[in-house]
Amino acid sequence: MKAVFIDKDGVVYTGVMRPGFSAPTAPRTLEESILCEGVAEALDLLKNHGYLRILVTNQPDIAYGTMTQENWRLIREEIDKLSFDDVYVCFHGRKEKCRCMKPEPGMFEDAVRKWDIDVSSSFIVGDTENDAEAGKTIGCTTILLDRTYNSGISSDVRAKSLLEAAKWIVGHP
Ligand SMILES: [Mg+2]
Ligand SMILES: [Zn+2]
Repeated sequence: MKAVFIDKDGVVYTGVMRPGFSAPTAPRTLEESILCEGVAEALDLLKNHGYLRILVTNQPDIAYGTMTQENWRLIREEIDKLSFDDVYVCFHGRKEKCRCMKPEPGMFEDAVRKWDIDVSSSFIVGDTENDAEAGKTIGCTTILLDRTYNSGISSDVRAKSLLEAAKWIVGHP
């Protein structure tokens, strides 16, 4: 199988600016969760070209006490209305040093094993260095979305949105 690993915040849902943070942060409630433009179209396009669509997201806010379990449940219900083939979530905090929090590749490794994914024909679409690093570690093509906060970070490809990234992927099989 070939797959596109897709980051959640800043890619599928818009990031939320908060005082004291230099870059947008994850939505912590359903109300803060604004779906990015073109996501449904991008997921359909990838599916039609034979790609698994796998969400891989760090969600440490519950561990940090900045998001409630109930708010995550509501957000997850919305995610499950999208057509992802699988969803991997790391709920650990940074101090736990788990194997799954990006840039660690644990979520990717689990998906590769479960779905028999050929990483060399697969992609990661993300917006941070963590996404690009995890993708590099497992050996897929890395695509970063153009954001002011990631301009210094290298990736194989740049795109403006998940939809633009999806169009690039299906044009470069
Ligand atoms: Mg992100
Ligand atoms: Zn983890």
